[in-house]
Amino acid sequence: MNGWSLTDTNFKESYQLKETLFSTANGYLGVRGSFEEDTIESEPSVRGIYINGFYESEEIVYGEKLYGFPDRSQSILNVIDTQKINLKINGEKFSLFSGEVLFYERALNVKVGISTRLIHWKSPKGDEVKLIFKRIASFSQRELFLINCSIEALNFKGEIELISTINGDVSNIVATDDPRVGTANAQALSVVSLLSENNQSFIEAKTKYSNLKVVAGIAHQIPKIFSEKILNEDKQIVHFIKGTIQKGEILNFTKFAVYTDTNRHNNELQQNKSILKSVVANNFEYYADLQKKYLNDFWEFADVKIEGDEKMQQGLRFNLFHLVQSVGKDRWSNISAKGLSGEGYEGHYFWDTEIYIFPFFLFTNSDLAKNLLNYRYNILDFARKRARQMGHNIGALYPWRTIAGDECSPFFPAGTAQYHINVDIAYSIIQYYNVTDDMAFMVDKGLEMLIEIARLMYHIGHFRQSDGKFCIDSVTGPDEYTCIVNNNYYTNVLTKNLFIQFEAIWNEVSNLNSNRVNELVKKLKFKSQELKDFSSAGKAMFLPFDEKRKLHPQDDSFFNKKVWDFENTAKENYPLLLNYHPLTLYRHQVCKQADTILGHFLLENESSLEAIENDYNYYEKITTHDSSLSTCIFSIMANRIGEYDKAYDYFMNTARLDIDNLHHNTKDGIHTACMGGSWMSIVFGFAGMRVVNGTLNFHPHLPEKWKSLQFKIKFKKRILRCLLTADGIQITLKKGTPLNVKIDDKILNIK
Ligand code: BGC
Repeated sequence: MNGWSLTDTNFKESYQLKETLFSTANGYLGVRGSFEEDTIESEPSVRGIYINGFYESEEIVYGEKLYGFPDRSQSILNVIDTQKINLKINGEKFSLFSGEVLFYERALNVKVGISTRLIHWKSPKGDEVKLIFKRIASFSQRELFLINCSIEALNFKGEIELISTINGDVSNIVATDDPRVGTANAQALSVVSLLSENNQSFIEAKTKYSNLKVVAGIAHQIPKIFSEKILNEDKQIVHFIKGTIQKGEILNFTKFAVYTDTNRHNNELQQNKSILKSVVANNFEYYADLQKKYLNDFWEFADVKIEGDEKMQQGLRFNLFHLVQSVGKDRWSNISAKGLSGEGYEGHYFWDTEIYIFPFFLFTNSDLAKNLLNYRYNILDFARKRARQMGHNIGALYPWRTIAGDECSPFFPAGTAQYHINVDIAYSIIQYYNVTDDMAFMVDKGLEMLIEIARLMYHIGHFRQSDGKFCIDSVTGPDEYTCIVNNNYYTNVLTKNLFIQFEAIWNEVSNLNSNRVNELVKKLKFKSQELKDFSSAGKAMFLPFDEKRKLHPQDDSFFNKKVWDFENTAKENYPLLLNYHPLTLYRHQVCKQADTILGHFLLENESSLEAIENDYNYYEKITTHDSSLSTCIFSIMANRIGEYDKAYDYFMNTARLDIDNLHHNTKDGIHTACMGGSWMSIVFGFAGMRVVNGTLNFHPHLPEKWKSLQFKIKFKKRILRCLLTADGIQITLKKGTPLNVKIDDKILNIK
């Protein structure tokens, strides 16, 4: 094990899990880590390549369809396969499951962004080869995926053949009884044309309903003495690359695969051809160098160094690398719950983005964070349309899960009812503004989203007759084991924050006297009365609190319910969602994930520390952490209340959740929210960082096991390096003007 790479030496087990872990992606294109060569039936492969935001839509079939239920689904599609290369060594087909494997190691090096397989293979007849496969999903050329294969003949001279394909006969995995996987139509992509010219082959394919097209093109760099023949079949094109190898000789082959799609390219085929032509003018090393450069820049700010805990170090870097691999870098895409590593959750974008992943990008690479908000701006009209469907004559309601903007959640109690997605997005916009001071974004896009979100939240609430408190009824908070409730603490406290912050932002923005703001007011018919309404709703917001017990109920009725019988619940019945009808869960005090505790983390000043501590102790006992979004929040808040051992244990369950397959479903894709949560556990947990009234506050505590912890953050045009040791925290200003920070109760000026 090593802090910069993940290695595997056992190719015989957990094939699909490793396809996920070793996937390579660049935010546009994602390739599962399938073997180039055919696998055997007992090791079935989910051989997948995905384009962020490229989806098919299908009618959702309901037994009983009620008003306002979404009509159509959207599912990320497995697109044209270019991963396959079979090898014939002196007439014998290479497979790890025949002959003898004398050495095998696969590694994903996150520092340089290359995944490698190193194999010493002895064929059944006794010919020995050393094979090295290297893969790059290029950060410098988003359309490009590369495979480099080097072959060394160790004890023979003979014929080598590469049978390299591009295949349009692809499908998604079909519905299973696990709601966390997809329900996509197996074969949604149909091949439109196959084309080969100048030893380059292209397949064009399209979807039926979403009306999207994708083109994949391949080309090879091969030794001069090798020949290349091409055969077009029904839905695939095969390149036969043949020649001889001398004993001791090493030969090098590179397969270039380029993907273009309707969203990003005006003419998918023509652009594919021209990109392919330009990339083959370079070699694999050229792209490996660019990959390294891109990641050097990334790690410069993103790296978190943990001294004294190799396992956590590895887990964390692995997570951060997968986040930069998964995050959409254009306005068509966001970051899905599984990144681009698998088909779980159908490739949908959730609130995971804003609350769990956004902070990492915000504090290390705010352009990527901004892009995530741009995406939300891009789908604002869908959110407006959805609001009307849901009976709101004003404002916008963001979809609980989507790819292109339409709500795709068929199960409304744990889907559409999660109106908190609206205030989660608002929270991110405000956070972005507070950390970057990017007024231009606020004026261009942020303000419009905030107005529409605030309107919607105001519209669903009401001032209660009995006491004038502002209440929000019939919503679901983050905890999906408690659905459709009145006054969910989390939803209310985030809505309160939006209403209060909105007033301050409005005052700043309206002082600018900007044309854009004036136009916006006209376009949205935004009235000063609305501003007053938001403000009074914010001030009157009802936050449920049990005065006697000094506890916040998760919602109005939560404490009236029976507590789940944890003692008599068998271990194998977890996650509960796979073993109990939702109503059984809803009738009990049992939480799938952090809810009130998350509300406290995001808005700590809304509650006394005593109540936070009480809530932590209460909710911890009834939370199953069946969602991977939970343990990071408990880790952060355990740190907050001084439960340091617990903070470390929860962090362990977060940082290596995928590497160690702790939820047993990493085969369907990584858990990007949890990955973002591992960064949050470091920065907001162990370093205890918060932004309070525009100032950075820290409550540091280094786990006993660690020697030191180091990370950088960008804050208001400054770069700060934070170093935690057993003695406390040292903050160094690497760039920018001096600033005050608060460490525990002391204010320090950092120069
Ligand atoms: C969680 C949601 C989350 C979704 C996607 C579910 O299990 O309960 O909060 O958005 O997974 O990650």
